[in-house]
Amino acid sequence: MLKKNDIIELDITSASAEGSGVGRTGDGLAVFVPLSAVGDRLRVRILKVKKTYAFGRLEEIISPSKERLGPDCPVYSKCGGCVWRHINYAEECRIKRQKVIDAAERIGGISAEIMPIIPSEKTERYRNKAQLPVGRDSDGRLLTGFYAFHSHRIIDCGDCALQPKIFSEVTDVTREFMALTDNTVYDEQSGKGRLRHLYMRLGEVTNELMVCYVVNGNGLKREDMLIGMLKERIPNLKTVVFNSNRENTNVILGGKNRTAYGNGYITDMLCGLKFRISPFSFWQVNRAQAERLYGKAKEYAGLSGNEILLDLYCGTGTIGLTMARDCKKLIGVEIIGDAVKDAEKNAALNGITNAEFICSDAENAAAQLEKNGLKPDVVIVDPPRKGCGEALVNTIAKMEPDRVVYVSCDPATLARDLKYFDRLGYKTNEITPVDMFPRTAHVESVVSISRQ
Ligand code: SAH
Repeated sequence: MLKKNDIIELDITSASAEGSGVGRTGDGLAVFVPLSAVGDRLRVRILKVKKTYAFGRLEEIISPSKERLGPDCPVYSKCGGCVWRHINYAEECRIKRQKVIDAAERIGGISAEIMPIIPSEKTERYRNKAQLPVGRDSDGRLLTGFYAFHSHRIIDCGDCALQPKIFSEVTDVTREFMALTDNTVYDEQSGKGRLRHLYMRLGEVTNELMVCYVVNGNGLKREDMLIGMLKERIPNLKTVVFNSNRENTNVILGGKNRTAYGNGYITDMLCGLKFRISPFSFWQVNRAQAERLYGKAKEYAGLSGNEILLDLYCGTGTIGLTMARDCKKLIGVEIIGDAVKDAEKNAALNGITNAEFICSDAENAAAQLEKNGLKPDVVIVDPPRKGCGEALVNTIAKMEPDRVVYVSCDPATLARDLKYFDRLGYKTNEITPVDMFPRTAHVESVVSISRQ
């Protein structure tokens, strides 16, 4: 029997959904080893043994997988962001597609075709958003970076390889400003101290930059000096916002924003449309890849111009609005009030007049629309990780749309929901995985479903 601290030799033969390599012992026990690659032969220290699986730590590479890459980030394996930096991108894409296939088969019992994954053109510096916690080390030096896996310990990282360079410049300016003033840093334990997070967004097409400081209070001392420093060093600075968060919570943003410079939002382009992005708005972090995702969703929607399109979980309206010109009527549903306001503004900004947005829970809104006799031709859903759930799937089926397009960030809940659809006569035609987040464990999918 395997036990803690045993050292074993292990061949890594597959990869887990969370981003570990997996090998099997002689008894068939699966051992999960972070930072390993399929094809590795390893010496592994066993850290924890459960009934049907174990966790191990890589002690030594006996012979490396041919997919391995050398280390290229000083905080890789410490920060909770990337899990696939040690393998090449083709192998990463293979693993992600396999994750979708496995979930569809095992959870959904779905035999639909899983298309090749749409890879991201950029695998570095693709993010247009960062929310960096701020703290101090034991010497009082300012830390900004990322939380370690499953922890609130800040791993200092001045320049993350997934973010645009300009974010590092803002981080530098902020560090200098904090050193020059007696502003304090928030401490989660005591709930005291001011600066909590540094939050940035970049419009990739427009190059407009938003800097938002999340503070435990109203603002910072010497804000004028901070804004002066930012303006001098960051030519594309568009707006500076202070967000107040006085709660002792893991939620990053508080409810109130105060604009200290510019007009409180930036704009960017997506699929030829202009969007206004404020600190609270949901906006895809990999813009170029979002265009490909939405392109696929549009293809699956198969619009001819006469359809009623229902866009559930619509955020600021992006998916539906990029299709509004190709349908008769668009109805979007979203639970966050500010996002709905943004969606309405975004429609107006682009001269779209056939769109209507409802602020509500998707399940309740769909049930109400169904009761009112709405018969959408196409329904798009883009739920958070927990998926749609059986009740919403039932309601959608009752509305009898010809096609459903499902955009999902979680292959497991997607597969579960596809099974519900299948039982109601809605067949999965094909699934296209899309890599929105290179180097991390996440994979997005877009699915074509149609009524039999
Ligand atoms: N389709 C959008 C947003 C997708 S993110 C885009 O691609 O940009 C998922 C969205 O679902 C978020 O905006 C979130 O606020 C919203 N949401 C979460 N739970 C919801 C619920 N129960 N009902 C309606 N919307 C919900």
